[in-house]
Amino acid sequence: MRRAYKFRLYPNKQQEEKLFWTLNRCRELYNAGLQERKEVYKYAGKSISYYEQKRDLPEIKEIRPEYHDIHSQVLQDVLLRLKRAFDNFFRRVQNGEEPGYPRFQGRNRYDSFTYPQSGFFLEEKHITLSKIGTLRVKANRNVEGTIKTCTIKHESGQWYVTLSCEVNQPEPLPPSHEDVGIDLGITHFAALSHGEFIESPRHHRRAEKKLKKLQEALSRKKRGSHRRKKAVQAVAKAHRKVRNQRRDFAHKASRKLVNRYQVLVLEELQTSNLVKRPKPKQDEATGQYLPNGAAAKGGLNKSISDAGWGMFTKMLQVKAASAGRVVAFVDPKYTSQVCSKCGVISPKTLEERWHSCACGCELDRDTNAAKNILNKYYGAGSVPQIPPRGATVEALAF
Ligand SMILES: [Zn+2]
Repeated sequence: MRRAYKFRLYPNKQQEEKLFWTLNRCRELYNAGLQERKEVYKYAGKSISYYEQKRDLPEIKEIRPEYHDIHSQVLQDVLLRLKRAFDNFFRRVQNGEEPGYPRFQGRNRYDSFTYPQSGFFLEEKHITLSKIGTLRVKANRNVEGTIKTCTIKHESGQWYVTLSCEVNQPEPLPPSHEDVGIDLGITHFAALSHGEFIESPRHHRRAEKKLKKLQEALSRKKRGSHRRKKAVQAVAKAHRKVRNQRRDFAHKASRKLVNRYQVLVLEELQTSNLVKRPKPKQDEATGQYLPNGAAAKGGLNKSISDAGWGMFTKMLQVKAASAGRVVAFVDPKYTSQVCSKCGVISPKTLEERWHSCACGCELDRDTNAAKNILNKYYGAGSVPQIPPRGATVEALAF
């Protein structure tokens, strides 16, 4: 199993210059390799392989001796990235997707280089990089397993190192006899079928508010001004903070759930559909656009993307897989509309937070949904097959 660690690097001035220099040489090599691939295809009608390009590296070093100042595996990795870009391109073509031909890389796009096997050495507070030097690193977690690759990245004005490690498969957790339906939402980060809620911490909202303010301030600054530059940095910093908070929270929440439950059931959610803005409605008579709650949904959209469901779900799956737990997905149809006790559909608007059914079922809207999600996984065991009077046939489809 692979695990990645990302730490901040603190190069001194000279080291930073060397890092930028290395990045630029790598980018140059990438673009040259791309050019070659293009030309060979254009004039000879054939594809050039990674291995052919790799074989040319010694020759390149003869013509451009400064390339001796870069670890040779770093250069090989540049060509490997190019190969992957082409592999992805051909795969997209084959699948009939939007192909997107590999692009020449500008200064701002090409922001990392990788030591794929060797050429780096990590100590407590330092990392030694071949041909660059010994840099200060803030390693705030213990690195477990064997380090396989080391990537240096320049990201919003700061340097980071990502170490990808091979770790032994952890022992699966002892089986649990509890299972849970999980409804991911906006009012609560998650509602559980047993009636508990997982809330996202209050300080997240604060950090997000601050980010929003800084973004607004940035939009008022003049292009190219010193103040704008400062504002850009402030936004980047706040953005990082929000991102890190969300990641930490998702880690903790998913860990807790996986430790406790054997089967974890969620809705299959198409977040990309949910965050789309609604189409404006036109008045048939006048042709004027009608208010359709677009503004309200905009706020909602923001919360949806903020909640980071995708990241959370992914972590849940990864942790469950190594613990021997099961994460399952069910069709989200009617999960919030159907009564989890009797199966009758009781339509609600988004504003209605309470599920109240004629059968006597009284539940938080999201708890009801979480119960339905779990029921669906077990073949809707508690839903009667004959819809009671007043229910639509659709209840059967549930
Ligand atoms: Zn009911």
